[in-house]
Amino acid sequence: MTLTRKTPMKPGSGFKSQAFARSERKEADVVKKLRLKKCAVKECRKPFEPRSMTHKACCQACAEVVAKLQREKAERKDIQARKVAMKGLRDWIADAQVAFNAAIRARDANKVCISCPTHLSTLAGTTGGGFDCGHYRSRGSAPHLRFDERNAHGQCKKCNRYASGNAADYRIGLIARIGLAAVEEMEADNTARKWSIEELKGIKAHYKQKLKQLKET
Ligand SMILES: [Zn+2]
Ligand SMILES: [Zn+2]
Repeated sequence: MTLTRKTPMKPGSGFKSQAFARSERKEADVVKKLRLKKCAVKECRKPFEPRSMTHKACCQACAEVVAKLQREKAERKDIQARKVAMKGLRDWIADAQVAFNAAIRARDANKVCISCPTHLSTLAGTTGGGFDCGHYRSRGSAPHLRFDERNAHGQCKKCNRYASGNAADYRIGLIARIGLAAVEEMEADNTARKWSIEELKGIKAHYKQKLKQLKET
């Protein structure tokens, strides 16, 4: 790309010299500011001549106070960053769970409730989905099975929310669907699982894709 000017700039012409004057003024301001500074320690505030832009305290004792405050500030920042990172993991679990649950509901949309004879298709269409993704072993007591497809099935809200998951009937329905061996395997599975944020992102993407496929067919 070539820049063209209607009137060519002469060396030392108005525009250039104005800019130069501006930068000279800026430099003068910096020097003025550098000349005297107030000590950064609140209880001191003694003016002093700084050796550099980062020189903040009037004496060694004040410099130590400033350094201590800076350390404390950095520590607080570090704690805050760790909190954010932890919150991030919880958020990703929640995100992945939303995607997983939606895919399970789509998978089971044409089945009956896992724990009663209500046909789920008769419940579809109401706000927030007409039925739930109910976990056989609850996410609270068995969080390691929260993304296990054998452990999650379409369930009417009445069973899931108002009958404590209707566990006894859930078990009967579950055996009919996945077989006794798989049910017993899950019941015996107490191996803790940890997911990294990357893995949770993967789970979310996987079930989003699955939901799309299920909706297309
Ligand atoms: Zn001081
Ligand atoms: Zn039900």
